[in-house]
Amino acid sequence: MLFDPRPKEKKEELFDREKELFELMHSVVNYPITVLLGIRRTGKSSIIKVSLNESDVTGIYIDVRRAMRGGRISDEKLKTQLLGNLRRIKIKELGIKLEPTSIDLTDIFDVLNSYGKKRKRIVVLAFDEAQYFRFYGARGGKDFLLAVAYSYDNHEWLRFLFSGSEVGLLHDFLGFEDSKAPLFGRIYNEITLEPFPRDLSVEFLKEGFREVKIDVPQEHLEEAVNNLDGIPGWLVEYGYHYIHTRDHRKALERTFQSAQSLIRSELAELEKRSERYLEILKAISLGINRWSKIKEYVETKEGHITNARFSSLLKNLGRMSWIKAELHNGKKTYKIVDPVVEKVIRG
Ligand code: ADP
Ligand code: MG
Repeated sequence: MLFDPRPKEKKEELFDREKELFELMHSVVNYPITVLLGIRRTGKSSIIKVSLNESDVTGIYIDVRRAMRGGRISDEKLKTQLLGNLRRIKIKELGIKLEPTSIDLTDIFDVLNSYGKKRKRIVVLAFDEAQYFRFYGARGGKDFLLAVAYSYDNHEWLRFLFSGSEVGLLHDFLGFEDSKAPLFGRIYNEITLEPFPRDLSVEFLKEGFREVKIDVPQEHLEEAVNNLDGIPGWLVEYGYHYIHTRDHRKALERTFQSAQSLIRSELAELEKRSERYLEILKAISLGINRWSKIKEYVETKEGHITNARFSSLLKNLGRMSWIKAELHNGKKTYKIVDPVVEKVIRG
């Protein structure tokens, strides 16, 4: 069902995305490393799962957030997830003792490579929300990247897929352009998942309602898209609530409510790092979009801030994909990437 709120796993459950799916399936086989980018709820997890299921590869999917414990990636939890997958594909037969405490990441990569080699089958290790690896180990995730670099150099049958919604953070973490980083200069392919264009968003809703045999007036579909943009995750929420309420207004309202609780918890994380982040987002959501005006707004709320500090906060919000900078008549303006987030913040 298109309006099923969980990530999709099968091709039939995915609306459109043929091109991206093809590209991803091709990339994970042909590139040692693939990076899949896209803002929250554009369908990254779904397209990863579908591509691993549909390809002629052995796919291992890891949601890095699931290995978090107390704000850090727990090495043991990570390995437990990996080893669980090894058991699932019956890798025991290689005669290796699979204990999280007695095995290194590189050992696991070795095992997976031997498995692929024996079966002449590519093994794809997909790490979803991989920007969280910066909370791995004592050196900002460097030890993880060293293991990947080792694998890149030695494992013919192993491929990596990294995905994340905090686009700049993921880039900085992977460090392909950073001469001091383990993956510097390595070959990778990058794919970006964009929200649906307007027409396709309306078509998506139509298709979803057709599937459950519910008639929804065109103007409701259009209004839903006006409010939710082309972000598949929000469109699915709307469809899901519509099915359960049979009421356009309520469906929109509930979509915003659940978006609100999701986004609030993300904002709470942000606030822990600096309360000024929230004031910056607030200003931009209110339409204050120029550097100096945003700074003024933040200063009336939080007191004086240096230009350098303010610039760095603004840049960080961009790296986390909350905001983006645009040029209008040669002038730089800022906007919130996701209109649903914008509305929630505006309150
Ligand atoms: P992300 O990982 O980018 O945050 P998800 O894959 O979790 O996004 O998708 C968010 C929601 O949108 C899920 O409910 C998923 O089922 C739905 N979804 C995303 N893309 C599609 C698509 N192409 N067709 C149908 N549903 C989709
Ligand atoms: Mg996801």
